[in-house]
Parts: sequence; structure tokens; C-alpha cells
Amino acid sequence: MARDERGVTAQSEDFATWYNEVVFKAGLVDRGPAKGTMVIRPYGYRLWEQLQSELDRRIKDTGHENAYFPLLIPESYLSREAEHVEGFSPELAVVTHAGGKELEEPLVVRPTSETIIGEMMAKWISSHRDLPLLLNQWANVVRWELRPRMFLRTTEFLWQEGHTAHIDETDARRETMLALGIYEQVARDLAAMPVITGEKTPGERFAGAAATFTIEGMMRDGRALQAGTSHYMGTNFARAFGIRYTDDAEQQQWCHTTSWGMSTRMIGGVVMTHGDDKGLVFPPRLAPYQVVIVPIMRGGNTEVVTAAEDLAARLRETGVRVHVDARPQITPGFKYNEWEMRGVPVRLELGPRDLEAGSAMMVKRLGEDRKRPMPLTSLPQAMPGILEEFQAFLLARATEFRDSHTASVNDWDEFTAAVSTGWARALHCGAAACEDDIKSVTAATPRCIPLDGEPETGTCVRCANLSSYGKRVIFGRAY
Ligand SMILES: [Zn+2]
Repeated sequence: MARDERGVTAQSEDFATWYNEVVFKAGLVDRGPAKGTMVIRPYGYRLWEQLQSELDRRIKDTGHENAYFPLLIPESYLSREAEHVEGFSPELAVVTHAGGKELEEPLVVRPTSETIIGEMMAKWISSHRDLPLLLNQWANVVRWELRPRMFLRTTEFLWQEGHTAHIDETDARRETMLALGIYEQVARDLAAMPVITGEKTPGERFAGAAATFTIEGMMRDGRALQAGTSHYMGTNFARAFGIRYTDDAEQQQWCHTTSWGMSTRMIGGVVMTHGDDKGLVFPPRLAPYQVVIVPIMRGGNTEVVTAAEDLAARLRETGVRVHVDARPQITPGFKYNEWEMRGVPVRLELGPRDLEAGSAMMVKRLGEDRKRPMPLTSLPQAMPGILEEFQAFLLARATEFRDSHTASVNDWDEFTAAVSTGWARALHCGAAACEDDIKSVTAATPRCIPLDGEPETGTCVRCANLSSYGKRVIFGRAY
């Protein structure tokens, strides 16, 4: 049996069930009472805070300022940009009554904030000296989900949304790529998630954008996860909201705007990039606890608990996030399994005999020679390096997995084989009808046109028309 009370269904048996079990059992989330809503429990929220603080630092280091805009947006704002309202209408939650009365104009609970921020930008920008305007907001947004999945698709989620206004296309496109670069770094350096950066095909663009760029990670079932997007809006929103400036020649010009977002969806990405049959595997740089110490208390021995607390204090001094699990009445074996399921990178077992020998048994969550005794004296100094090594190991493991599940394909048989287990790099005609046909037959969609793709042309892998984009497109089934 692959499953017991504290264990989870094996990934290989049923990936979707594995995911659902592990996010609940590990204490990351619970279900909210309203459909599709999610309670982020402390263990999951710690992970989010880790990601948030690092992302926030990078956003600020590149010249952006945080601000906050209202949750409620007049419904008419959304209709001002035709494609935007069309794209978001099916997902909107609308407030029609408040204060015991029907509202004159309904209010939309923000699904994203281009409209309300656009309205403010129009007010704040008048001259070229006001540009660029570089804003970021940390907020919750609501998009009604018919098929919710924890972290991946929830009716309400947390994110940051960057919104910027620029003097011209060149500057706005530079900003779009800057934000994409931040996401790529955060995914790789913090989440140990190797991602492909690329442009979305027109059919996959954000509603109202002139160009959408994405980072795409491969999950351990071979599916893709869009983990962050960055949009160049052209002057679409500027025209809809009147975002204009006066140039040197005293002429009125439309601003070029961008927006970009990364959300709590990223947590689902971390879970599915690194997890295994035993449960979660957290990269140390994001892990709520990097190290858990389990004192082995035989016969009411409290000496080991004191020694564990002492070791924890010394580890904290070197910047390690550590937790001592001294719960009585629970066997060490149970704790080992539980913390493995909860994805803690390193476990330290400390019993009376270890204490006598002046060492602790160190057990890494994954990898070769994962178990070895370590001297208590040098452990605190050694631990940051051990954690960094584990972080690098996870990135290498995920990269190897992705690369071995990605194939450059030249005919339809190769294509269907590739997208049944991972990604296909294929030439495509660019026609929306052809994309739809591929999706209906294989469930695969174009994930992106990779930025670093080699120039190549030929015939479409599906319809044999001439290929578009001048390079291969990555196709895969996606979350
Ligand atoms: Zn085609």
C-alpha cells in the first residue's frame, strides 16, 4: 500500500490526488467556506512570506515603489478597454448591494488593477518629467473559479501586480523584460525552479495586452505551470484611461504601459516541482523551517531537549530557520515521517547516545549519502553550506527532469508522444484554429515562444502550413 495515515498517495499512482493530499496533510492550506476560497495556514504562509520578502526586495531594488489601490472598482471602468472586459467578465464578482440598498453603479471586486491604477496614472502624469511611473501593489484579487485547485486556481489569491507607465515603446518593452527577468531569477534562485522565459502566442495573451511574456516551469507530472507573466500593453490602457504626457515639443502623447504579476500560485509550483512519493520537498531558501531537530527522549530524558534547544539557538545565530520538535507522546519515527512529508530539507536526530558522542545524526530530505553523523561543535558553521548545497541539488534535479522530458519534434507522432510525458519544441503555423485543433486532440497548448530559441523555419508540425515566429514553440499540457 502506497498510503497510510500519515503518508500520501504515490505521485506515480495519481499525481492530482497526491497534490491534493499533500497540501492539506502538510498543513499548507485548508478550504474556505465560500466556493474556491483557500485558507493559507501558518506553515504555508511562512513560505509565502519568504517568497514575498525576496521578491519585494528585488522589485524595490529596480526602482519600483509600493502603493495600494482600492479593492472595489466601478464596473464601468472595466468596460473601457474592450478586450480587457471581454477577457475578465466570466470571472468577475460584482457587488450590487451595500448599506442595505441597491448601488447606483455596481462595484467589481478587483480581478486585477489595470483599470483603477490607469485612472490614477492619468491623474498623476502630465509631463514627460513624471515618467517613468513605476508602481507595485501587494494585494488579493478575486477571479471566480469553477474548478478550483488549491494555490493553482482559487477564487481569491494573493499576488503582487506591477503597473508602470513610460514615455515610449522602447522604454516600456525594456520594463516588461526587466520584470520577466526578476521572475526568472526568483523562480530559479529561490524556488530552485528552472523556467523557460518566452512570449505567449496571440491566443494566450493577457486580455488587453499587446504582448505577454511568461515564465513556464515543468512540474513532476510533465505539465507546465505558468508561474509569472509580464505584459506590454502598448497604448491600449493609456487610450482607455487618458494616460498622457506633454513631450519636449509641447505635444500630447499617449503613455506606453506595462503590468506584471506573480502570485500564491508559485507555492503550488514549488510543491509540484520538487515533491515526491513521501510528500513535499522544500528548497532551503523558501522552506518555512530549513532544519528540524528531533530530540529522542527515552524514559523522560530531558537532557536531550535542552541540548536540542541549545543547538537550535546556535543554528539561529548563523541565520538558519530551525524548529525543535519536542512534542511528548509522539515517537521519533512518527516525527521523522511527518517532517519528511512536510518537506523540511534537513532533519537532525539527537538522542542520549548521540549526545555522549558529541554529535547529531543529520538526515537530508533527498539525495545520495543523505544520512551522516555531524559533530555538534561544528554543525552551526557547516549548516548554511549544507543548505546551499541542497538548494543547488534541487535546481540541478529539476533541470535534469525538465530537459529529459522535453523533445524537439518534427512530426505529429513525435509531437503527441512528447506532450504525453512533457514538452515538445515544434514549429507552428501560428494560426489560432491550428492551436485549437492541437489542444482538442492532445490537451497541449503553446506555452511560449522561448526568448533564447534558435532561428528556424519550416512547416507546421500539425497542418503543414509554413511556420510562424521564426523559431520553435514549446507545447505542453498545462495547469
Ligand atoms: Zn498549423
